[in-house]
Parts: sequence; structure tokens; C-alpha cells
Amino acid sequence: HAKSSGRGRAEHFSAELAAQITERAGLESALRDAIDRDEFALVFQPQLRIGSGQIVAAEALLRWRHPQDGLRLPGTFLPRAEETGLIVEIGDWVVHSVAETIARWSRLGIEHRLAVNVSPRQLDHASFFRRLRAAMHRVGAPARLLELEITETLAMHCSDEVLEAIALLRADGATIAIDDFGTGYSSLPRLRALPLDRIKLDRSLIEHIAEDAGARIIAQAVIGLIHGLGCQAVGEGVETQAQADILRIIGCDVIQGYAIAQPMDEAAFLSWSQGEVRWAAVG
Ligand code: C2E
Ligand code: MG
Ligand code: MG
Ligand code: MG
Repeated sequence: HAKSSGRGRAEHFSAELAAQITERAGLESALRDAIDRDEFALVFQPQLRIGSGQIVAAEALLRWRHPQDGLRLPGTFLPRAEETGLIVEIGDWVVHSVAETIARWSRLGIEHRLAVNVSPRQLDHASFFRRLRAAMHRVGAPARLLELEITETLAMHCSDEVLEAIALLRADGATIAIDDFGTGYSSLPRLRALPLDRIKLDRSLIEHIAEDAGARIIAQAVIGLIHGLGCQAVGEGVETQAQADILRIIGCDVIQGYAIAQPMDEAAFLSWSQGEVRWAAVG
């Protein structure tokens, strides 16, 4: 089949490649415009302490209000933003918005943290932490209400300079979390040496705990490891009450996921968090 249609396939591939190149170039310039046109937005997903049901933090997640496509998820544009380096500008937008949100919430008397995701390219620039502190300071956002989420892979590979900056931020009162734990390869001695407060178990470690004893044993062992490192264990991507029940039994401290709430815009998040609409099984 491949041989008989060789010519056609070559034409097909080059047309596909051309389309891909156009698409990628289009996405890049659309992302540049999106910053200028203020098309980015943050949504917020709560994290609850298992047992008390108290909100301990919210995670800020980036959305793109695309003029044609509607609300676009990070997976559809962040990889390209990272390749092109535009993540630095987009990440600055995120940091400023998070700082403003923290300041606004703290004026409302909200005492839980707001967590922000950062990707490796953003931390390549040593000035990231300087700009983060400046943004927080400018709007009067206290560092104790900030949580920084770095991925396991980033934590394993970042420079000593970045580690020092993270340690300084933590000394200021910020909380440091490892995101997507269990998807990368961690050196345990390095993990122990990092300035850390919490470790988030990736959804892939939680997905099957309700029906698979092996998955449950692994999740429990990982939680034991996290506690051994002196950190809090946060379960992410918790989709069912059965998963939440098991996480409580095996000692997980905090949970986040659709079972509790979807990521929400600020107004919806605030009314959710101040209302009685809490998930009964958690309390
Ligand atoms: P993440 O930091 O691991 O965030 C969790 C992702 O899981 C979010 O996807 C969230 O909407 C989704 N999620 C939450 N609960 C559930 C659940 O119960 N089930 C399932 N299946 N998914 C759940 P989202 O918002 O699409 O973000 C994807 C990733 O994009 C994030 O993964 C993070 O790595 C990155 N990201 C998001 N916002 C930012 C940002 O502002 N800056 C940077 N650098 N990266 C960001
Ligand atoms: Mg995250
Ligand atoms: Mg995560
Ligand atoms: Mg994840």
C-alpha cells in the first residue's frame, strides 16, 4: 500500500507539514496578540484538608479566552509557548495576576494560600524570583499566602542558583510544592535536600486506587515516603468519593479534584468557598 501510493504520500506529507508549520506560526503570533489583548484568565480549584474539609489552598490555572475557539486549556498552547520562550511573558502575566488576587483575597480576610504553577523555561531566567517578589511587594501580597508549584522533573534538574532563590522565597513564608510527583524520576537524596513543604501525587497514582489493590499499596507507600521527607501529601485529580475515602484511610493530608470542585472563575470560587456547598464526605 505504501509503495503503490508513494508519490501521493509524499505530497500528503508535505501538505501536512506545511499546514503544521502554518498552524504553529499562527499559534505563536496569536499567543503574542493574546498577551496584548488581555485574553488570558485564571481559574481556581480548591484543595481541602481531608477530615476537616477546610480549604487550605487554591491552585491558579491558566485559561485562554480565545476569540474564535472559546476557552482554551493550557495543554493546547503551553507547549508552544515553552518552545518559543513566550512562556516567560505569559508566566509574568500569571505571576502579576496571582499577586493581585492574593492581595485582593487577603483584604477580604481569606487566609488560605494561592498556588501558582511555574515551568522550567520561566526559571531559566534568574530574574524570575526578583520579579515575583517585586510583583508581590507592589500590590501588598504577603508571601505566606503564596504557594509555588514546581514539577518533579524541574526540581531534579534546576541549578543551585534557582534552589537558593526557592529557599529564600520559602524563608519569606511561601510554601513550596512538588507537582505531578510520580511521573518523573526522583533522586531521593536530592528530594530530601530540597526546601519543600508539600508533594502532590500525580493523578496517575490515584486513578486506580479504588479498584486495584496494587495501586493502593503504591499510593500508600508514596504517601509514607512524602511524610518521611517531612512533607504534606496532596492528592490531585481526585474524581470520585471512593478515591477520596481511600486517600483518607491511607493517610493523605489534602485532596484536590473534580470530586470536590472543578476549577472556577474567581466569582464562582469565592461563592463556593464561602458557601455551605462543601462536599459532605470530606468533613
Ligand atoms: P497541573 O498543575 O498538574 O494541574 C492539574 C490539572 O488537572 C489541571 O489541568 C486541572 O484542571 C486538572 N484537574 C483537576 N482536577 C482534576 C480531576 O479530578 N480529573 C482530571 N482528569 N483533571 C483534573 P489544566 O488546567 O488543563 O492544566 C494543565 C497543566 O498546565 C497544569 O497541570 C500545569 O502543569 C500547566 N499550567 C496550568 N496553568 C499554568 C500556569 O499558569 N503556568 C504554567 N507554567 N503552567 C500552567
Ligand atoms: Mg499544578
Ligand atoms: Mg499537577
Ligand atoms: Mg498533573
